[in-house]
Amino acid sequence: MPGRLRGKKALITGASSGIGAGVAVAFAKEGADVVINYPNKSQEKNAKKVAAEVRKQKRKVFLIQADVSKEAPVKKMVNTALKKLGHIDILVNNAGIATGAPVEKMPVSMWDQMININLRSVFLCTHFVLPHMYKRNKGKIVSTASQLAYLGSQNFGHYCATKAAIIAFTKSLSREIGKRNINANCVAPGATYTPLLEDVEDDHLAAIKSMIPKGELAKVEQIIPAFIYLASEEASHMVGQTISPNGGDSMV
Ligand code: NAP
Repeated sequence: MPGRLRGKKALITGASSGIGAGVAVAFAKEGADVVINYPNKSQEKNAKKVAAEVRKQKRKVFLIQADVSKEAPVKKMVNTALKKLGHIDILVNNAGIATGAPVEKMPVSMWDQMININLRSVFLCTHFVLPHMYKRNKGKIVSTASQLAYLGSQNFGHYCATKAAIIAFTKSLSREIGKRNINANCVAPGATYTPLLEDVEDDHLAAIKSMIPKGELAKVEQIIPAFIYLASEEASHMVGQTISPNGGDSMV
């Protein structure tokens, strides 16, 4: 059923890799023009590859380098995206990192970096895009949480805290949005094969798999449909919700 996002304009953060890259291409297949945000020079090559895939769908694509944890670059990114696209129908707050340490050994700088990249970014992007969505009384905001928001995970206290906060933020935002024709929701994937898991040791991955009723980590293609749905008009009555494609690892 392609065409569910026909004519839509989407801004996707952290879209040069993993889930964000998959979402950008999938949105284009569904008919959307996209802005691919990426953080730094080292991701530029990947971002260009994703852009080439989008172009194959005959959709417009623009690349914007911006560290989404920082106010000035996000403001500039949103203004540039509005200039390039005309407007923003869909914001996907997806950029994220994964570091790890037990709480007593975690450097404060590691905590702060996680909060800034995974959580502050969601506030900043939403803060700068929302006035434009309010003006048009139209929009979809989809933020990437994680099932670890519900489960918790040793060595990932900072990560889990950001993901739980994204879900709580989305519920509060939804109450502010109220009757407007704008929806904010989350996708909370389970463990998914992306570069984010590259440094996770095999025995840890095996332990994760053993806890999942489906017995397998997700492929990005298994996560993407939740984003397409929540970004589409079909999701007009989805408000402050979290969809969790996770193989049954956590059932809410
Ligand atoms: P990924 O392949 O590493 O993609 C994340 C992207 O975000 C990377 O391109 C990363 O760039 C970028 N990014 C990092 N910091 C940024 C910043 N300050 N500004 C802009 N972009 C930035 O990992 P992924 O698995 O697709 O992760 C996407 C989202 O899914 C994250 O929010 C993650 O927490 C969430 N998630 C992932 C899983 C999983 O198992 N993979 C499960 C649940 C939730 P760099 O590579 O340069 O850092």
